[in-house]
Amino acid sequence: MSIIRAACRPLQKIEDKILDKAGVRLLIKREDQVHPVISGNKWHKLKYNLEVAQAQGHDKLLSFGGAYSNHIYALAGAGKAYNFNTIGMIRGEAYTPLNPTLQFAVDQGMQLHYLSRSDYRHKYEPEILDKLKEQFGEFYLIPEGGSNALAVKGCREIIADINVPFDVITSPCGTGGTLAGLIAGLEGKKKAVGFAVLKGAHFLQDDIAQLLRDANEPGFENWEINLDYHFGGYAKAKPELLSFIDEFEAQHNIPLEPIYTGKMMYGLFDLIRQGKFPRGTVIVAIHTGGLQGRKSRFKCFNNAL
Ligand SMILES: *Cc1c(COP(=O)(O)O)cnc(C)c1O
Repeated sequence: MSIIRAACRPLQKIEDKILDKAGVRLLIKREDQVHPVISGNKWHKLKYNLEVAQAQGHDKLLSFGGAYSNHIYALAGAGKAYNFNTIGMIRGEAYTPLNPTLQFAVDQGMQLHYLSRSDYRHKYEPEILDKLKEQFGEFYLIPEGGSNALAVKGCREIIADINVPFDVITSPCGTGGTLAGLIAGLEGKKKAVGFAVLKGAHFLQDDIAQLLRDANEPGFENWEINLDYHFGGYAKAKPELLSFIDEFEAQHNIPLEPIYTGKMMYGLFDLIRQGKFPRGTVIVAIHTGGLQGRKSRFKCFNNAL
């Protein structure tokens, strides 16, 4: 079986006075529309993992995530769509009722289990993995956020799907797997800029370099991580971020969420406004998806949706 063929996702041109003034063109690649359930970058990250798991004869996928993880959500959807049993190891304690992300995962047939925060920190160590093998039998392990060499291979293809000339590609960064794939796809040309959504995410520099090595890619240098737009940390927001997202949607009819895509777009517009990109630069920003989470997590959106 070939798991799923990537459909060509449209590039949407953004018209904005700020762009005109800076002489910069911005196109948004709508990866949020790549699959109804396995949305955005998670689809690209999972695709080859699902193929390899199946080729190796696995019928059980196990992965890790926080209680609001888009990766867990996508993995549950993928399991249901492609006939894998899925096990979600969730950081922290169980809460009832389940939040909408976890409820969705259970509805897709995912088995949820919880790891204490300290076990979660050591989740890739043999002690914990052996315990999981004892508990669940053989499984195909997908790391937190889905980031591994096969995710890099999948995200690489996003670049080949862009059919216009451009200079810079941008993406929000959680674990950096998506950006690593984009860097790989650029093959040393142009430039990739990642926007870290975690506070003080200096680890991204090394983690991304490691993911590229794992994927047998050369040590590219045409990329950078911007650490300035985390808004206080993972899943933290500030009123100016939330109003930016509302205004962006009103003006461009493109929904963003405050955890990933909103931070990237806020940061990107801020840099453009500051003249950080030379006139004539064409930027492609990846809309990595994540929209299913925004209703449940941020009450301020409930009125708008
Ligand atoms: C998971 C996620 C990211 C982060 O991707 P990484 O590969 O972990 O950097 C970005 N955007 C959205 C919408 C996500 O769900």
